[in-house]
Amino acid sequence: MLNCPKISDIKNKTVLVRVDFNVPLKLVSGKAGTNTAVWRVADAQRILAALETINFLIDHEAKVVLMSHLGRPKGVVNRDFSLAPVAKYLKNNLDLPIKFINDCVGEKVEEAVKNTENGQILLLENLRFYQAEKKNQANFAKKLVKDTGAEVFINEAFSACHRAHASVVGVAKLLPNFAGFSLMQEIKNFKRALENIKRPFVLVMGGAKISDKVATLKNLADLADIVLLGGGIANAFLRAGGIETHQSFVGSEAAVELAKEILQAHATQRVVFESDGKDRKNLPLPKIILPIDVLAAKNKAVKNQDQVEKIGLLRDVADTDNDRNLQYLDLGPETLKLYSYILSQAKTIVWNGPIGLFENRLFARGSRQLARAIARATDNGAISLVGGGESNSVINRAGLREHFTHVSTAGGASLEFLSGQDLPGIKVLAK
Ligand code: ADP
Ligand code: MG
Repeated sequence: MLNCPKISDIKNKTVLVRVDFNVPLKLVSGKAGTNTAVWRVADAQRILAALETINFLIDHEAKVVLMSHLGRPKGVVNRDFSLAPVAKYLKNNLDLPIKFINDCVGEKVEEAVKNTENGQILLLENLRFYQAEKKNQANFAKKLVKDTGAEVFINEAFSACHRAHASVVGVAKLLPNFAGFSLMQEIKNFKRALENIKRPFVLVMGGAKISDKVATLKNLADLADIVLLGGGIANAFLRAGGIETHQSFVGSEAAVELAKEILQAHATQRVVFESDGKDRKNLPLPKIILPIDVLAAKNKAVKNQDQVEKIGLLRDVADTDNDRNLQYLDLGPETLKLYSYILSQAKTIVWNGPIGLFENRLFARGSRQLARAIARATDNGAISLVGGGESNSVINRAGLREHFTHVSTAGGASLEFLSGQDLPGIKVLAK
C-alpha cells in the first residue's frame, strides 16, 4: 500500500508536489495566440482535489512548491498554456498564500524558492514547456529537484500517473516520496469498484484524446459488456465502420485503423438486456455501439440553432455538396434515447469524455443528457465511475456531481487503471 505523508515527514521541509492543474481554461478577452489573450479557469475541480494536501502542508510550515503541466504545448513556451491563470485562481478565489514563477527550472526558480517562506506556496510554470518533461530525461528531473531545493516529493496527480514523465516518475526516484491524499482516495475508490464488478457493465467513451483512448478501449472492451461511443472517438469508429464523417474530428489515421481492429475483434459478440416491458423487446445489441444520429454544423463556433443540422446515420449518408463541410459535434436525440435505455439496465457504469463539443452551448445537451442518464442509474443502485478533466466540467455544469459513486479527476489514467495496467506514476512510489 502507498503512504500518505505524516506531519513529521513534511514539517518545515521544502516539499515538491506534482499536481494536475491541467484544467479547462476559457478565453475571456483578446485573441488566442497573441499577447492580448486573457484566460481564466473554466472548471476548478482538479485544483480543489489538491487542496487537502496543499493545506496540510502549509498548516505544518512546509515550503510548498507546486508543479504541473497544462495542455499539450509540445515542448515550447506558449502563453496560451501558461499556468498563470491557475495561480490567479488559487490566490483570488481560494485565498492561498501563493506566488507564481514563469519557469519551472533555472536560476529564476532558485531565487523564487529562496524568497518563499515556510507555510507559503510557489507555483512553477508549465512543465511541458520543456520537451525533457515528456521524454522523462533524468537531467530534467535532477534540475527540478535541485533548483527547487526539494527534500520531499508528493504525487497528488492521479490523472497524470499513466505518464512516465520526468515530474511524475523521474523526480519520485530522487526523493523520499508520498502519495497525496486525493490520489490515495482515488485509488481506494477504483479498487473497491473493481473488487466485485456488478454486471451488466456499460462503458461510455467520448472526448477528443482519440489516439490514447482508442488504445485503452482495446483493453477495456474485453472487461465491459457493452461500449457506447460518442464525441470524437465515435467519429473515429464511424469512419472505421465505413460511415461518412465528412470534416468531423477523428484524431489520426492510426486511431481509425485501431478502431477498425477493435470493431472486428468484437464483430460477432451480442449483448441482451432485460426488456423494460414497454417499447423495447429483448433485442440483441452489438457490443460496440455507434451513434445512429448526430448534430452537425459547418463550423464548431456556430452561434444559432438554425446552423445545426440533425443527421441520421442508419442509412448511407451521401457526400453531397451541402454535407461536405459538416462536422459531427454532438449525439442526436435517437442515439441519446438508445444510450439512456441501455444505461438504465446497467449495474456498473464507467464514463470518460464529453460526447459533444460541450464548450459550445449548442452541442452541450448530449453530454448533459448522458450525465443525467448515468445519475439516474446510480440513484437506482448502479455503481458509476466517471471522470476526466473536461468531463468534470460537464458534470459540474450539469449540477449532478453528487449523483455518481465516484467522480475522478482522471480520464486516461483512470481507464488505464481500470484495465488493470500498472500506472508508472504509482508504481514508482514507495510502498
Ligand atoms: P476528458 O478531459 O474528460 O478526459 P478529453 O480531453 O478526451 O476528455 O476530451 C474533451 C474534449 O472533447 C472537449 O473539449 C470536447 O469539446 C471535445 N469533443 C467532444 N465531442 C467532440 C466532437 N464531436 N468533435 C470535436 N471535439 C469533441
Ligand atoms: Mg481533457
